[in-house]
Amino acid sequence: MEEEIRSLPFECQECWYVWEEEYHVRHFDDRHGNEREIWLRSGVPVPPPSSGAICPKCGCQHATMFPAGYLSRHPELMSPAEPAPPDATPLLSPVQRRVYPL
Ligand SMILES: [Zn+2]
Repeated sequence: MEEEIRSLPFECQECWYVWEEEYHVRHFDDRHGNEREIWLRSGVPVPPPSSGAICPKCGCQHATMFPAGYLSRHPELMSPAEPAPPDATPLLSPVQRRVYPL
């Protein structure tokens, strides 16, 4: 039996919130030679995820699922967890604009 972790991104169609849910997927063969999967969240078996997940922000069920790994290719979709700290470096002088020859 193999177990893998899959992080699946979702996007809410109502408020455009983007989030990821982490699932453990167990693979095993049944006695007929078919490969089966069990999806677990926090150790609890759940149905395989599909579009229609519940948005954690607005609670609606109009979410779209992306393929696993989608957000790593589109990081701009994820809203940052915290705003970036302000840059403490004082600006001492106006930065000269560099002119690049065409
Ligand atoms: Zn929403």
